Amino acid sequence: MFLIYCPYCKATREEEEFHNAGEAFIARPADPEAASDEEWGDYLFMRKNPKGWHWEQWQHAAGCGRVFAVKRHTLSYRIAGSWTLAAGKALFLQEGGV
Ligand SMILES: [Zn+2]
Repeated sequence: MFLIYCPYCKATREEEEFHNAGEAFIARPADPEAASDEEWGDYLFMRKNPKGWHWEQWQHAAGCGRVFAVKRHTLSYRIAGSWTLAAGKALFLQEGGV
């Protein structure tokens, strides 16, 4: 178990109050009609699943209900921080989008 900071409630709570909503910042093909079946399949189903730092979406299900970005280490469960989706995406892109 670990603690997560909700950037909307401005409170740190136990993981049990939250739901993991998967990988954050998955790029949707700019023109879905022009995407190949492989590109569309990758967008829908392929995830990075890294061993290390990972950008995730979490929902504060037992709190405000909002979804936000968390950068979490998948081995140590250490959390680098929590941000609104917009602020998290700006950091994600600043890091090179990986
Ligand atoms: Zn909250």
